[in-house]
Amino acid sequence: MWFGFVTLFPEMIETIADLGVFGRARREGLLQVTCINPRDFTHDKHRTVDDRPYGGGAGMVMRYEPLMAAVNTAKEQAPQGTPVVLMSPQGQVFRQAAVTQNLELPGLILVCGRYEGLDERFIEDAIDWEWSVGDYVLSGGELPALVVADAFARHVPGVLGNSLSNIDESHLDDRLDYPHYTRPEIVGSKSVPKELLSGHHEQIEQYRHSSAFARTYQRRPEMLVRRLYNPQQLAALSEALFEAPE
Ligand code: SAM
Repeated sequence: MWFGFVTLFPEMIETIADLGVFGRARREGLLQVTCINPRDFTHDKHRTVDDRPYGGGAGMVMRYEPLMAAVNTAKEQAPQGTPVVLMSPQGQVFRQAAVTQNLELPGLILVCGRYEGLDERFIEDAIDWEWSVGDYVLSGGELPALVVADAFARHVPGVLGNSLSNIDESHLDDRLDYPHYTRPEIVGSKSVPKELLSGHHEQIEQYRHSSAFARTYQRRPEMLVRRLYNPQQLAALSEALFEAPE
């Protein structure tokens, strides 16, 4: 899969994308990473990518032209059909479903914002989707973009050594993972659950299944609601919930 990061901090991307599972997959040619810096598309002495906001107020705004030129360059290099995604706290919250519903994508152009924001006209002209990694504000889009890239990379065939590792993961099936244990069998007063020591395949499966559901119920009960309803029913449910009372 191809990833194009539009970023003022390519070093941040390169450092992290070189490590662990992601880095190994890059070296094996399963993932391609390119950084395109809007600063390389400026024409003034100071290579200015930001300017003061119209209407005044705090903070600076990323300028249209360098961003647009960087995205156009990314598009020239990207495989056909690669969408342009802005990392933004105002976007759709990025969930596992965004990955599993888009596994066919050949690549992603991930635009990393900085400063107070980006010129709105650039967003209107260049951006296909906006994704947020959660309801909080970070200083830049680089960490969110790396989060998105990592979540997709795990589904590229061959990236995970053991292809089974993607099966029982939290969120894949609208539930959390079951608890894991390894040697030693006893730590202080705590022993490994007896079912896992039984050597009995069905008992182990049963234990994992029920502990995953119990954990989901305790920590993220809303995930179980998603399992019960299809997307249309959920949309109707949320509409009903947010409808103004008479
Ligand atoms: N003024 C903006 C607002 O309140 O919506 C926040 C700007 S933030 C300081 C700078 C950049 O960080 C954003 O343009 C975006 O690219 C990135 N960013 C911050 N929080 C994020 C989040 N929760 N998810 C994705 N990107 C985020």
